[in-house]
Amino acid sequence: MSGAEIAERIEAARAVLGPRVVILGHHYQRDDVIRHADLTGDSYQLSVMASKTDAEFIVFCGVHFMAESADILGKPAQRVILPDLGAGCSMADMATIDQVEDAWDQLRYIGVLDQRVAPITYMNSSAAIKAFCGRNEGVVCTSSNAIPLFDHYLKEFDKMFFFPDQHLGRNTGSKFGIPLQQMVLWDPHKELGGNTEEQLRDAKLILWRGHCSVHGRFKDWHVDKVRRDVPGIQVLVHPECPKEVVDISDLDGSTSFIIKTVENSPAGSKWAIGTEVNLVNRLQDRFPDKDIRLLAPDLCMCATMYRIAPQNLVWAMENLVAGKVVNEIVVDDETKHWAKTALSRMIALTEGS
Ligand code: SF4
Repeated sequence: MSGAEIAERIEAARAVLGPRVVILGHHYQRDDVIRHADLTGDSYQLSVMASKTDAEFIVFCGVHFMAESADILGKPAQRVILPDLGAGCSMADMATIDQVEDAWDQLRYIGVLDQRVAPITYMNSSAAIKAFCGRNEGVVCTSSNAIPLFDHYLKEFDKMFFFPDQHLGRNTGSKFGIPLQQMVLWDPHKELGGNTEEQLRDAKLILWRGHCSVHGRFKDWHVDKVRRDVPGIQVLVHPECPKEVVDISDLDGSTSFIIKTVENSPAGSKWAIGTEVNLVNRLQDRFPDKDIRLLAPDLCMCATMYRIAPQNLVWAMENLVAGKVVNEIVVDDETKHWAKTALSRMIALTEGS
């Protein structure tokens, strides 16, 4: 089938299903998929928006943990579909629940849990890890609300164990002035994460050794180069980028922050953006009066997000028309309960911030 034929069939299926279906498109999704999205946004926003619709089916064009979040936050009758089950997130996959529970046991064994330790997980993690945080007085954070949540937990607890993105954790910890030696890295493949007992006892922040395979590729020399090549350009990056990149950038913040910053900037302004290429390309298209470029022109898109192709979407939609739910993502009730607990804490602690 040609691209045009697939697009027509997706729209035809949507016309049959009507308000029974809502298609969600993450900001990093490819153009030939996002054009079919009813709602676009980041993972948390999309899950919340979908839960407010009366749609029976939520087709999530994103990655696995996002579809799990939509199931956790959705209404009981809503069913979530991920058009390709192979669309995972390399960062989320860097922390499994078994590894996290093993790390927690090791901390307990050496007495670190005699201090008040809060487990905090980034939205980009499995439902099981969100539930682990819910059961252990912890919380979920997004890149938009990491700062108020760190502020709260640094005051109320002795230390935090942050999963799975070391860069977001380190960049946020730095904003609170935590020295690098008190932000230790936990490597799940090493005993005590590769640390001494003393290092773990003295740490303020234990960072899981995970990273985003897209944002982790931006380097400090990309910043230096673009500044040399384009005088007056401003560098705007996502906090999943390494600390040495964030430290020398002009601004850093979540995907929504990046979009708003560019939207509100005057015509003629110049931006080098360190985030996923599809989002940057769309900003270029929306604002031809501004000089917008990817911070590192040779970087690729999120390969796992890219797995959701129009072919997968048409297959999922036409099956729904035929009365068959394919690739449904279901989080079990116990996990859902505790993951919701962690998410509710997040909402309660960040309301109004
Ligand atoms: S961009 Fe990075 S964090 Fe986001 S889905 Fe892709 S691999 Fe995961």
